[in-house]
Amino acid sequence: MENWGLITIRQRDGLYKDGLFPIIQKHNLQEIIAHEVSHQWFGNLVTMKWWSDLWLNEGFATLISLKGVDFLENTTWRYDDRAESQCFALRSDQTNGMIPISGGEYSNPGRYTELTSHMNHIIYKKSSIIIRMIERIIEEDTFKKGLRRFLNSFLYKNADHEDLFNVLVYVHDSSAGGHLSGQNFSLSDVMDTWIRQPHFPLVHVNRKEGSIVTIRQEKYEHVPYLARANEQVWKIPIFYDDPVSAKHKVFWLTDKQPQVFDMAGQYVVDPHQLTYMRIRYDIEMYSDITMALLHDYRVIPTNSRSRLIDDTFSMAEHGQMSYKVAFNVTMYMSKETEYRPLQTFSAYMDYFLPRMYGLEFWSEYQEYLSLIIGKLFDQFNAQGLDADMDIQNDLFSTRDIVVLRACIIDYEPCIQMANERFQEVRRNCSGKSQLLSGSDCNKIPYYLRPYVYSAAVKHGTEADFDFLFEKWNMEHYMMERDSIFNGLCSTRFREKSDL
Ligand SMILES: [Zn+2]
Repeated sequence: MENWGLITIRQRDGLYKDGLFPIIQKHNLQEIIAHEVSHQWFGNLVTMKWWSDLWLNEGFATLISLKGVDFLENTTWRYDDRAESQCFALRSDQTNGMIPISGGEYSNPGRYTELTSHMNHIIYKKSSIIIRMIERIIEEDTFKKGLRRFLNSFLYKNADHEDLFNVLVYVHDSSAGGHLSGQNFSLSDVMDTWIRQPHFPLVHVNRKEGSIVTIRQEKYEHVPYLARANEQVWKIPIFYDDPVSAKHKVFWLTDKQPQVFDMAGQYVVDPHQLTYMRIRYDIEMYSDITMALLHDYRVIPTNSRSRLIDDTFSMAEHGQMSYKVAFNVTMYMSKETEYRPLQTFSAYMDYFLPRMYGLEFWSEYQEYLSLIIGKLFDQFNAQGLDADMDIQNDLFSTRDIVVLRACIIDYEPCIQMANERFQEVRRNCSGKSQLLSGSDCNKIPYYLRPYVYSAAVKHGTEADFDFLFEKWNMEHYMMERDSIFNGLCSTRFREKSDL
């Protein structure tokens, strides 16, 4: 909590010790601290006039927390990563009854406490994406200058989003009479369509010839049979780089009329996933995208690879698109090395796991996942699962996600690895007073422990369960207790779960 002069953090989130906690815990803590510190400017130094602009406080704090961790770790990928925020925000925003990020009945502070996790995704994540769209529309340097001017102008005062937009547009182009350069509408006109109405657009892309496509918008309806006629329209910036000058450009889709757009040789629209929307291509374009991914997946940027998976599986959920298209997009995944596309893929695969388990398709599904996850597991296993991963990229997170899924789908080399590591721990930590959190006897790296315990208990003996249960009873460290408990829950001995 960002109280001025007294930042407070939950004890559970505030604890970290090298070697005893997974590295992700450290990054989460860094992110929380950076988030609360950024509120000293956005929220405390300049305070919103009313709760309807809470999105500005939380949107900026969410963005700056990513910059903060990148700064501390000397990386850039967190701020460049749009996939996670978009996945969470879109999934929440596509539910019926969702609120706009500004205004609406939840602007009343009494009702703010009623916000659900879906609504929190809107206030935090959708807001941060919208703010980044503004940054790209007026360009980063202008955006920074504008923010400095805004903070200085409203120091120790209250402000609303109109105050911010006015300052940004003035710094962007003071001669344009409040309009965006070269346009007959203002930043407020654009932003009103994103902050004052809920949900988001689906942009259809249909090939005309070569790189020339038609694009048009409609409101995204996740459950088509519940859809009602609506007139929602967004002023959509389609960001692209000029193929000759490499300068940042914006193509505006401002109404429901189809527009002709030149993709300039790109396989996807908005390749860096800068705009808050889902995209649907025609079947021929999906086929080209699938082939391009199989040939060399890097021709499509990381954020867009994640978006392709998210959009196609999301549309397939209620029959708007064939699952065949979605699964075809994933055929290249055994070569994927980036965390976000794998995280998005895994989220959908996790959805299918309990629904497929034990059914006639299970073995085929298991085989499909083994082809993708198994191959990736073999690569990490060959490097050594204890190896330090370069924190300059997100390989450690990729390894985490791959090892977990490989063991969950009973991929034999993963089960074997888990069993060997677990039996080693049983031998080395057999003393009555030895804790599994003690690094002297337990050499399994922390990130790997929950997966090893789970797989070992799932495929092991009653004695394996009893050993772990005894260690859980005496363990002091909460993180280790959670890992052990996670493992105990995997037992196939029904009577053990009553202990
Ligand atoms: Zn906050």
